[in-house]
Amino acid sequence: MSVNEQMVQNIVKEVIARMNLSITPQQNSLGIFEDMNEAIEAAKKAQSILKKMSMDQKEQIISNIRKKTIEHAEIMARMGVEETGMGNVGHKILKHQLLAEKTPGTEDIKTEAWSGDRGLTLIEMGPFGVIGAITPCTNPSETVLCNSIGMIGAGNTVVFNPHPAAIKVSNYAVNLVNEASIEAGGPANVACSVVKPTLATSNIMMKHKDIPLIAATGGPGVVTAVLSSGKRGIGAGAGNPPALVDETADIRKAAEDIINGCTFDNNLPCIAEKEVVAVSSIMDELMHYMVTEQGCYLASKEEQDKLVSTVLTDKGLNRKCVGRDAKTLLGMIGVHVSDNIRCIIFEGEKEHPLISEELMMPILGIVRATDFEDALEKAVWLEHGCRHSAHIHSKNIDNITAYAKEIDTAILVKNAPSYAAIGFGGEGFCTFTIASRTGEGLTSAKSFTKSRRCVMADSLCIR
Ligand code: NAD
Repeated sequence: MSVNEQMVQNIVKEVIARMNLSITPQQNSLGIFEDMNEAIEAAKKAQSILKKMSMDQKEQIISNIRKKTIEHAEIMARMGVEETGMGNVGHKILKHQLLAEKTPGTEDIKTEAWSGDRGLTLIEMGPFGVIGAITPCTNPSETVLCNSIGMIGAGNTVVFNPHPAAIKVSNYAVNLVNEASIEAGGPANVACSVVKPTLATSNIMMKHKDIPLIAATGGPGVVTAVLSSGKRGIGAGAGNPPALVDETADIRKAAEDIINGCTFDNNLPCIAEKEVVAVSSIMDELMHYMVTEQGCYLASKEEQDKLVSTVLTDKGLNRKCVGRDAKTLLGMIGVHVSDNIRCIIFEGEKEHPLISEELMMPILGIVRATDFEDALEKAVWLEHGCRHSAHIHSKNIDNITAYAKEIDTAILVKNAPSYAAIGFGGEGFCTFTIASRTGEGLTSAKSFTKSRRCVMADSLCIR
């Protein structure tokens, strides 16, 4: 048998995976600057080149970002988990593949036209210039790559201020975007970042004269900061998505869908099921399937109390618990379980701190409701007005419609795991920036454009 290079690479990958060695990918630094002002200056120069390029050339850059994202998906997944201590390598590989395949590019930008006796008028969507982007530690390289595809697709360049706890993997992705651009004949520095992001570098970005638009993906603090900056802001903030289950649902499937969504990447996605509200008549059956078929551990009152004091602190979430798997979390309170346990469940009131807080870990409280109306009221309360995401398992279209109207979220998944919302097992495109607070909803290239009206009077109408 002859051994080719691909086989050798596969064997090396396998050995590294088995030995659980730290992968230290080659640290290139295209687009990475010591100084935020220099990063913005470089992105500005790159934008002056990009804006002269054709749509086709921009699309070639994007195709190459997609290709590189797939090639480097495993490295970035491992780096992300290793650096942040959060999430699941296999699921992070899937997230990278998903964004590479389903994040819209230049095709997302549409032109509107009116033609008539007085000529031809177009609405053309053009770039803002250099966009400032703030990214989270929960989907670090995923957000950098997804934002880059959309922002570059719209003709912008982008400067990132990534989360400091995920700087290596975020900057790895920034470098990749620039490699992709250069290889496809585009400029360097279409995406830029800094070596050491801080609140000070973020402030420079927010105040800089050459940054007309800021896109913030993260918790409430950063969205408020961006919306107070005096600039146009796209705010993709926190959520606490409830999954409502009524008596008409396929209960066994609901249990499976909810636990699949809740445990994806250890519950890090902002869209993931964070609690369940179930009508009383089917609640015991739902929990039965979760425990017997879906790898759930039913926590006692005493264990719930221990979890509260472990995962929550006076200052909020214990960061050492965010994005950890169920087995590890249970280990932290002295409970040892087998590897098939993937979620911790319990019944509780909606005010229970493990239910009302956005935890981002596979702990799923289940709230009992007397009937659908009661469930609706409890779910709306639990969403805390974030207007982010909510899910429902029901076959009653009146109930689904009432829920959708009342909870009024950017995302509402029916009868599927939450990740169907971003094109994974559901129709539609992928994004990791869901602008719940500022109303763009699931962002894509067109969210990063500005509208311009081009009028030709009395000519070019050939009707
Ligand atoms: P985080 O708010 O701690 O950090 C997000 C980013 O904001 C980081 O780059 C951080 O350095 C920066 N930041 C935080 N406070 C800031 C401030 N006052 N000024 C300037 N920058 C600031 O969030 P995280 O832990 O990285 O991510 C998890 C949170 O983000 C959750 O609440 C989750 O729901 C939310 N999230 C939302 C979306 C979405 O699309 N809506 C996507 C991912 C995560």
